[in-house]
Amino acid sequence: MKTAILGAGESGVGAALLAQKLGHEVFVSDGGILKDNFRQELTDKGIPYEESKHTWTSIFEADVIIKSPGIPDGLPPIQTLRQSGKEIISEIEFAGRHTAATIIGITGSNGKTTTTRLTYHLFKTAGLNVALGGNVGTSFARNITENKYDYHVLELSSFQLDGIVHFRPNVAILLNITPDHLDRYEYKMENYVRSKFRIAMNQQPEDILILNADDPEVQNHLKSKHLAPRLIQVPSRFADTKRLAISSPHGGGREGAWVFDMTGCSLKGQHNFFNAACAIHAAKSVGINDEAIQQALNTFVNDPHRLEQVAIVNGVDYINDSKATNVDSVFYALQAMEKPVIWIAGGTDKGNDYGPIENLVRQKVKALICLGIDNSKLQSVFSPILKNIEEVKSAKEAVDRATIYAENGDVVLLSPACASFDLFKNYEDRGEQFKKSVFEMSNGK
Ligand code: ADP
Repeated sequence: MKTAILGAGESGVGAALLAQKLGHEVFVSDGGILKDNFRQELTDKGIPYEESKHTWTSIFEADVIIKSPGIPDGLPPIQTLRQSGKEIISEIEFAGRHTAATIIGITGSNGKTTTTRLTYHLFKTAGLNVALGGNVGTSFARNITENKYDYHVLELSSFQLDGIVHFRPNVAILLNITPDHLDRYEYKMENYVRSKFRIAMNQQPEDILILNADDPEVQNHLKSKHLAPRLIQVPSRFADTKRLAISSPHGGGREGAWVFDMTGCSLKGQHNFFNAACAIHAAKSVGINDEAIQQALNTFVNDPHRLEQVAIVNGVDYINDSKATNVDSVFYALQAMEKPVIWIAGGTDKGNDYGPIENLVRQKVKALICLGIDNSKLQSVFSPILKNIEEVKSAKEAVDRATIYAENGDVVLLSPACASFDLFKNYEDRGEQFKKSVFEMSNGK
């Protein structure tokens, strides 16, 4: 069996390791420059590879091609490969073919990483033999190659789902569908929705699909399609901020609701309660008990840059939500704020419609600090609503200006609604620079 792997990031290298273990003849090809650790790993394992080019003649010799989700389907050689009848699959599909473990697959436009990490933490706290993989941490293929797990909790992007054929999660979570990455879907929302629902396309009646009961795109799609798995519809609105009450899918009586104390949990805001409810349904579906769930909620630490509390300085709470790169995430961030907000936003606009957050901004925001090169859209939308709008070009300036507006009891929230590439390397860099500036300011530097 000859296997060609296009793209040598974590998923490509994971796929190469699995293919080698299965005895395939493997060839890895990457059009860019490899990261040192991946180059070293391929060399150490004796796996042939090329970088900064694709030798299509070699790739055409393969029986199966495993394509990185980052490489668009529309690329002419990919189309030629497909037309010639070659099987082109994603690393998720490939790995899924080589494990009998229980798979929990999680997708959505927002909240994937949080929900995936929490689901993993719930399983781990309950003492299950579980791996975390997909878009977060190590690749699914690497996890399968290196260990024998009973459960795989996977974060799945729509690009990864585009490359599946038979992949079938036993439990799937579809958190929400809001416009994102439409450039890869011919700017058609229905294509993106269909891509997200691929997570359930191979599920059987004994499988479970956990869905957002209040998401219009999700619910519209359900009206037109019959899906095989058992559906668990999870409401996304929670009135209580201290307790999380979840209706049991079995319904009925006192036993019909599971209740968890959220006062010791670091996840705040309605969106995070919803993420937690979905993760808890997944945990319940494999038999995890309430005690382990409560313990996991109390000990969960999320990835940084997601409503991350940085510091309280002079009574002002500084919160880093740099990962909020679209309007929907900012909606939930603002909704979660219980104090007046100095809002730092801006960056590379992805065709944002700020309409859905105008009311929240009116109610909660005292000042807007625009952190971007071109802030014209933010200015034009919010200048009729807000008295205080300023423009800055660095995280340090943003923190300094925000601090001038902030009074004891306020929040300074970095929740940009935009990509970061105009002024920063990526959202992590933006978040780190924000945190550093807060720490320096609090140390009086
Ligand atoms: P993803 O992996 O899908 O990008 P993350 O968990 O990394 O999701 O969160 C990304 C951003 O979306 C953060 O700003 C976070 O506060 C926000 N967010 C998290 N969960 C949700 C949700 N269920 N709905 C809307 N926004 C959310």
